[in-house]
Amino acid sequence: MDNVKELLNNPRFNFIEHDIIEPLNTEEKIDEIYNLACPASPPAYQGKKAIFTTKTCVLGALNMLELAKNNNAKILQSSTSEVYGEPLVHPQTETYRGNVNPIGIRACYDEGKRCAESLFFDYHRLYGVKIKVIRIFNTYGPMMNPNDGRVVSNFICQALKGEDLTIYGDGSQTRSFCYIDDLIDVIVAVMASEDDFVGPVNTGNPEEFTIKELADLVKEKINKDLKIVYKHLPADDPTQRRPDITLAKAKLNWEPKIKLNEGIDRTIEYFDKKFKGEI
Ligand code: UDP
Repeated sequence: MDNVKELLNNPRFNFIEHDIIEPLNTEEKIDEIYNLACPASPPAYQGKKAIFTTKTCVLGALNMLELAKNNNAKILQSSTSEVYGEPLVHPQTETYRGNVNPIGIRACYDEGKRCAESLFFDYHRLYGVKIKVIRIFNTYGPMMNPNDGRVVSNFICQALKGEDLTIYGDGSQTRSFCYIDDLIDVIVAVMASEDDFVGPVNTGNPEEFTIKELADLVKEKINKDLKIVYKHLPADDPTQRRPDITLAKAKLNWEPKIKLNEGIDRTIEYFDKKFKGEI
């Protein structure tokens, strides 16, 4: 609610609190649906929320697709780079079918999102629903929850509080981090694209960093004297990840503009103000 509080007085904004595991019927005519619902942070979807995560992915997709079908609305699914699992193809192209452990602790999210993709394409084939499927790679930026648990917010919040930075494993695993504004630009572009462009399309920043490099960057910017502590690497944590964004460039004329260095500065500024109570 904190993130939408500025919108609540806007007459063109209407907030409906609803769990999409249950069907949703609205009186109002719907033109476009962006299905972003799901816990997305590994510590959030692993453990107690695992079954809830599968339900949100699968039943949620089903309910939103029904809503789209009944309204003749376009619907965009926020899928994920997790559909590639522990990738054996690098960088990952949309044609790569992935290497997911179906019984592991990430499976609720990975397989849930994979099942959601299949539902989207079946609704498209069987009922002609206008779908868009994007596969979002690691994204970060202001307005993340400080307790989200993902690596960028963890490192920045730890550093601002003077705490040790927690690297899981040896820090040699890689990720490619996309700044939120770039991601929003591509989401809007995908929704506005021709109806025959359904995806899936990779959306992310193709610059790849090790987690150790990210920790060093955050230390450099906030406090060089901070310590790094090495913790247990969670099961099935992917070794490497980088999107091939050739398709998004060709179809949408999109590529990320904000480099990690700048995006991290903006994110530090946000958390710094938040901790000082200025926002
Ligand atoms: N990670 C880490 N320290 C943290 C949080 C995460 O070293 O405090 C690692 C995590 O094990 C993974 C990478 O950073 O290898 C990215 O994790 P995140 O949870 O941000 O997203 P994921 O790509 O795993 O969904």
